Amino acid sequence: MIKYSVVIPAYNEEAVIETTYNRLTEVMKKSDGEYELVFINDGSRDATADMLSQICDKDSSVRLINFSRNFGHQIAVTAGMDYAQGQAIVIIDADLQDPPEVILEMIEKWKEGYDVVYGKRKKRKGETVFKKATAAMFYRILDKLTTVEIPVDTGDFRLIDRKVCDVMKSLSEQNRYVRGLVSWVGFKQTPLEYDRHERFAGETKYPLKKMLKFAADGITSFSYKPLKLANVIGITLCALSVLYLLIALIIGLCLPAVTMPAWALALTIALFFNGITMIMLGIMGEYIGRIYDEVKGRPLYVVKETKGFNSNAQ
Ligand code: UDP
Ligand code: MG
Repeated sequence: MIKYSVVIPAYNEEAVIETTYNRLTEVMKKSDGEYELVFINDGSRDATADMLSQICDKDSSVRLINFSRNFGHQIAVTAGMDYAQGQAIVIIDADLQDPPEVILEMIEKWKEGYDVVYGKRKKRKGETVFKKATAAMFYRILDKLTTVEIPVDTGDFRLIDRKVCDVMKSLSEQNRYVRGLVSWVGFKQTPLEYDRHERFAGETKYPLKKMLKFAADGITSFSYKPLKLANVIGITLCALSVLYLLIALIIGLCLPAVTMPAWALALTIALFFNGITMIMLGIMGEYIGRIYDEVKGRPLYVVKETKGFNSNAQ
């Protein structure tokens, strides 16, 4: 019986995939049970698929799921969890930023009885100041907005027990924020600190646009507070406008010599209110769009082919 599954999403990772496979194999051979490496090729346009296919041919512990196109990191991780057969499932990036050796420490914690062991980044090497600053800000804002306790500065590098994985499989939401969902599931969770390294090779597959979508998914999946912002802003503005009316009345009555160009004021106020209305509409749009995604009920991903799974696999 397979004891450990390692889930590795890969998108255009030809520069690292071979090394990642070797390092993971080296580490997993030191573990105390049978293991499988589940690679998800998320619609790569480079040689990743071919390289993985070759690896799969020569190593029976390797499985490959080829997506029909690029569905995104979080969906790739989800597919990996769907297909993983192990009793403990480890999720790790393909770029060796998360050191595979830490997996053995995670396994130790799992044996102590923890159901989720999540990697907590002590240091983040080789990442831009912008990435580090925005990431730090995002995790803290999310923490303020949500009632689910999602640990800060953690990625998807983690080990989850079979029972957590089974619950995750039953969550069908489309715009997935996997690390939040794992927190939501509950059970016995513990952090494990590690140093996040530089990318071994290649460049980040998370450009700003994907990062923003990821952040919006995190916040909208776990908080309604942005929607409630309309109330707060509305009430504040009402109070301010009453105040302004009073001031204008007092000036008008007591200081008839002072005149203000009415159009300037009117324009500013109109622009201000329009801006607020648009922002609020935008926030509502974010939620409505996601509701629409759910209503459509499309599958989360489309698999072109799988390789390396035995007959009793999915
Ligand atoms: N990834 C993926 N699909 C995507 C983008 C990224 O499967 O659309 C994978 C990528 O190959 C890597 C992991 O997700 O294994 C994390 O991506 P990356 O290292 O580029 O993100 P960063 O570490 O820069 O945040
Ligand atoms: Mg990376």
